[in-house]
Amino acid sequence: MKKQFAVIGLGRFGHSMAETLIQSGCEVVAIDTDEEKIQAISDLATYAVQVDATDEKALRTIGLQNVDTAVVSIGEDIEASILIVMTLKELGVKEIVAKAVTPIHGKILRNLGVSRVVFPEREVAIRLANSLAQPAIIDYMDLSAGYSVMEIPAPQGILGSKVRDSRIRERYGVNLIAIRRKIPIITDAGETDFKEDLKINPDPDDEIAVGDILVVLGSRESLASMRPA
Ligand code: ATP
Repeated sequence: MKKQFAVIGLGRFGHSMAETLIQSGCEVVAIDTDEEKIQAISDLATYAVQVDATDEKALRTIGLQNVDTAVVSIGEDIEASILIVMTLKELGVKEIVAKAVTPIHGKILRNLGVSRVVFPEREVAIRLANSLAQPAIIDYMDLSAGYSVMEIPAPQGILGSKVRDSRIRERYGVNLIAIRRKIPIITDAGETDFKEDLKINPDPDDEIAVGDILVVLGSRESLASMRPA
């Protein structure tokens, strides 16, 4: 069965969120008080409903209590964002993800039991700054308490070694969680193309080859030790 989402608030963040979830094959109920925002998404969304999401009765009529996850994406009107989260809690929605614009807003949302609070602008800025400062880094994602996940081309010194012999953890203090690799394939037209393969939890006997991208998890200091000078 398809996963069911509600996206409440269709600003730039909410609209992109709803669009991407739909493209990923999920069912999406899109909600906004603004008729234009509803019209802009109505061709895509499973349902697009113009309603005030602080109105518990209206949400119940739409069946919002049945969604797997509700995403609250309201930045400007913090009061509305908080009231909507409270309404979703009353309805018994299990997983709520909410966008926050200030630290206090984030703290209130967490205290209300939001499973995941996102600060989109701050998060994008951190990722972008890391990739600009260190062009060798392909992607970088901050987790909590000083830990991050980084994608980086396999360091020169371990090319050709098996995962077990590369001693990545001893050398750099990071855990290898996946290897991304481009595998050559022959297309129907007889041409060579490349297929992206993501090997999660690589085998100790897997060999680290030229062109491999390592996905590693560790403290920011440990990850820094892996970056090329
Ligand atoms: P952006 O994502 O574009 O940066 P933003 O997070 O600041 O913007 P807002 O401008 O706050 O987003 O807009 C969020 C959307 O939420 C608006 O389209 C607004 O109409 C809608 N909205 C605000 N209050 C409610 C509510 N009570 N019920 C439903 N929708 C609401």
